[in-house]
Amino acid sequence: MTIRSWLKFGLVAFALVAIAPEVHLRASPGIQVDEPSPRSASKTQIVFLGTGTPNADPDRSGPAVAIIVNDQPYLVDFGPGVVRRASLAFRNGITGLALPKLTRAFVTHLHSDHTVGYADLIFTPWVMERKEPLAVYGPRGLKAMTGHILAAYKQDIDVRLHGLEHANPTGYQVIAHEIRPGLIYKDTNVTVKAFLVRHGSWKWAFGYRFETPDRTIVISGDTAPADSIVENCKPCDVLIHEVYSQAGFATRTPAWQQYHSHFHTSSKELAELARRAKPGMLILYHQLFWGMTEESLLVEIRRGYDGKVRSAHDLDVY
Ligand SMILES: [Zn+2]
Ligand SMILES: [Zn+2]
Repeated sequence: MTIRSWLKFGLVAFALVAIAPEVHLRASPGIQVDEPSPRSASKTQIVFLGTGTPNADPDRSGPAVAIIVNDQPYLVDFGPGVVRRASLAFRNGITGLALPKLTRAFVTHLHSDHTVGYADLIFTPWVMERKEPLAVYGPRGLKAMTGHILAAYKQDIDVRLHGLEHANPTGYQVIAHEIRPGLIYKDTNVTVKAFLVRHGSWKWAFGYRFETPDRTIVISGDTAPADSIVENCKPCDVLIHEVYSQAGFATRTPAWQQYHSHFHTSSKELAELARRAKPGMLILYHQLFWGMTEESLLVEIRRGYDGKVRSAHDLDVY
C-alpha cells in the first residue's frame, strides 16, 4: 500500500469505530470473556437489568432480571437501579422494556438488595403513564411491604392525582400476591412455578421456573446449594444462578465465611450442582468476586463443570 492508501484506510477504520454501536468493555485485552449473542425479539429474551449484590458497585445495579415474551416483560426482583436500567435497555432497542409495560414482577425474597427498587417500580412507570396496576408475586411479608411503601408516598400520590399533573388513577396501584410453592402464574406467554430455596435464616426465599413457548428458564434468587434447583431444571434451557468465588471466600473472615456458606453458593458448589441439573446454559449473576477477576471465577466453575457457562453483566441480553 502507498502512504496515501494507508491514510485512507486509517480514516475509514476511524470512521467505522466512531459509528460502531456502544460496546461494553469487559476484560483487559487478551482475556477471553464470552459475549452473549443477540436474540431476536420474536423469541424469549432474558435481559439482565442488574447483576449486583448489596455492594454498591456502580457497574452492577441491584438484582433484577427481565424475561420478555412477545414484548411483555416479567421482572424477577427489583434491586436498586431497576427502572433506570430498563430505560437504558429500551433505548438500546429492547422494545419490551418500555416503562408502561412493566406490569408483572416476581420477588425471590425480601432482602433489601432485591427490593430497594420497589418504590421506583411502583411510581416511576406510573409517572411515565403506565395505566395498568402493577401485579407482584412474592413471599409472605410482600403485602405489608407494599402497604408501607404506598403509605409513605401518600402525599406524592395525592398531589399527582389531584394536582395539575392529572395522573391516571390506576397506574400506581399494586396487586400483591403472597405465594406458596407451586404454579403461581399463567398467561398466554408464560407459566411460572415457584419453589423454595435455602437462603440461610430466610423462611421464605423462592426460585422461579419460567416456561415460555420456546424456552424454560430457572432462576435461583439467593440460595445455598439447593436440590430444588436441580429438580426444577430437569430439563431447562437456561439456569441463572447466584455464585461467589471460592478463592475470594478464602480471604474472608470466619464470621463472614459462616454467613456466606449458609446463605449463598460457591463456584465449586455451583459446578457440582450444574453437573446434576444439566442446563442448556448456565448463566452466573449476583456474583461475589471479593477481588477475584471474572475470568478466574469462570475458571473455578469450569474446573468442575464442562457445560456452557456465561457470566452476566448489566444489560446483557440472552
Ligand atoms: Zn442478594
Ligand atoms: Zn438475599
